[in-house]
Amino acid sequence: MITRSVVLGVIAAMFAVAIAAQSRQPAGTSHNGKAFRFNKVKEGVYHAVGTGSLAVVGNSSFIVNDNDVIVVDDHVSPAAAWVLLEEIKEVTNKPVTTVINTHFHFDHAHGNQIFEPNVQIIGHEFTRRMLLSNSTSMPLYQNYLTGMPGQIEDLRKRIASEADPTAKAKLQTQLQVTENNYASQKELKLTPPNVTLTTQMTLYRGNREIQIRYLGRGHTAGDVVVYLPNEKVVMTGDFLTSGLSNMSDSYPDEWAASLEALKKLDFDTVMPGHGEAFTDKAKIDYFQAYMRDVWTEVSRLKKQGVSAEEAATRADLTKHKDHLPIQGPGVPLIAAQRIYALLDGKAN
Ligand SMILES: [Zn+2]
Repeated sequence: MITRSVVLGVIAAMFAVAIAAQSRQPAGTSHNGKAFRFNKVKEGVYHAVGTGSLAVVGNSSFIVNDNDVIVVDDHVSPAAAWVLLEEIKEVTNKPVTTVINTHFHFDHAHGNQIFEPNVQIIGHEFTRRMLLSNSTSMPLYQNYLTGMPGQIEDLRKRIASEADPTAKAKLQTQLQVTENNYASQKELKLTPPNVTLTTQMTLYRGNREIQIRYLGRGHTAGDVVVYLPNEKVVMTGDFLTSGLSNMSDSYPDEWAASLEALKKLDFDTVMPGHGEAFTDKAKIDYFQAYMRDVWTEVSRLKKQGVSAEEAATRADLTKHKDHLPIQGPGVPLIAAQRIYALLDGKAN
């Protein structure tokens, strides 16, 4: 006769196997030294910035609460997310119960698959839709992925011909970082949020309040920011970075207005998806002015009948160079193509 405890034991064993399979170490995690520098922005609130020893690309943030940890964005690959969790263990042994994706882009959501099924992954409904459909076939990720074999080949050649030992060692590190990233991308299983929102959601952890807010279309159609009103910090992903932001899936004509909604929140520190945390709110004005001018300038060139390729080289935003990293005339081709598609009503 099979007893209840035997049945429970068998179920427990099956469950243990399932969990073990989930938490298997992904390919491509090896690296030298720390992969992240943790910048403690407020008590229990950390900004995780890559050191360069592992490809992580975007920043993440994590919030250590009374009983758990919430991670905001999980980097470019399963390997990067796995190493992030390993390094978080050096700060706290509390479990990560919740992940928030600020948006669907690969450098913010490709670590989702390493989390156990009982971890809540929260994102905008649009983010879920994109991660369930065609996000890896879109140009932004395709350009990134298909460029890797060539980069690896190029690094190998440069290592072979490099005589200086210091330069050679640096190239060898770059090769290791790129090869590991490529190996991890091959194991990618797109994992969408399992909890979604469309406008706002609030998590409560003891005295901590964690607001997840959608402020309108901008960097994508579904970016959310994570706002801690008591700590006066906001985690902005790519909706607002410390410099320029990718425009491949953006709505440049709406972005500035959506940033106006961000300004209404009461915060003193921004933890962006790229670049260092900052307190200078004038950066928002500078970026809004840039976005408005990108839209106007590229639209003007399109009206003159020039191609998107030509508009990308001619669009002159150099008047913003004092406040943003702009070397000379031109915008990324992917940005010009996006604006053309929006103007033609062909953007998805
Ligand atoms: Zn992005």
